[in-house]
Amino acid sequence: MRIDIVSLLPELIRSPFEASIVKRAQTKGLAEVHLHDLREFGIGKHKQVDDYAFGGGAGMVMKPEPLFECIEGLTAQRTYDAVIYTSPDGKTFDQPMANRMSDYRNVLIVCGHYKGIDQRVRDTLITHEISIGDYVLSGGELAAAVIADALIRLIPGVLNDETSALTDSFQDNLLAPPVYTRPAEFRGLKVPEILTSGNTPAIEQWRADQALARTRDRRPDLLGE
Ligand code: SAH
Repeated sequence: MRIDIVSLLPELIRSPFEASIVKRAQTKGLAEVHLHDLREFGIGKHKQVDDYAFGGGAGMVMKPEPLFECIEGLTAQRTYDAVIYTSPDGKTFDQPMANRMSDYRNVLIVCGHYKGIDQRVRDTLITHEISIGDYVLSGGELAAAVIADALIRLIPGVLNDETSALTDSFQDNLLAPPVYTRPAEFRGLKVPEILTSGNTPAIEQWRADQALARTRDRRPDLLGE
């Protein structure tokens, strides 16, 4: 998967792609992340990228010209399965959406700033509008990093068996069961006995029960009950 991110502040999200699983995915050649500095497409000597909102009111708006030039430059080079605009009014990002997008080959993510981007960019170049939750961030970069991370870890070969995505929360509409590691007793706190029994079917059953109980308790909405 190739992910292109168009941003006014690419330095804000360089580090999430230079560590851990996401970095390993790139080293293994399973994912590529390219950051594009929108400022380079700014207009005139001052590389202007924003302007006043027509109709007045507080807050600047990202101008269409730099976005068109940058995005069209990219779409001329390859076909994108999704040209995403990160926006609080988009569809809320969730695991089923991440699963559906995980086999995309090319994904372009546009990060907004200020009051957002000129609507004409959204109307003509954007294919998907995604929000990462009902709150407002100062820019789309962190949202882009969240989306990219969630997609990259689903690419086959990125996670090894121990970290398999299939046992994580939201797969099967369930939260994950509790997990424990050594020591079996710490400050008098004991690990549930079943986990040290070696009885694999019983452990699997315990985990399934715990996952269901936790989901009922914390997120009954996932069960549609
Ligand atoms: N005026 C806009 C908010 C702009 S916030 C509104 O009220 O809808 C500035 C930028 O941050 C947005 O253009 C978007 O790219 C990003 N952003 C803010 N909150 C976000 C969220 N919940 N999910 C995804 N992107 C978000």
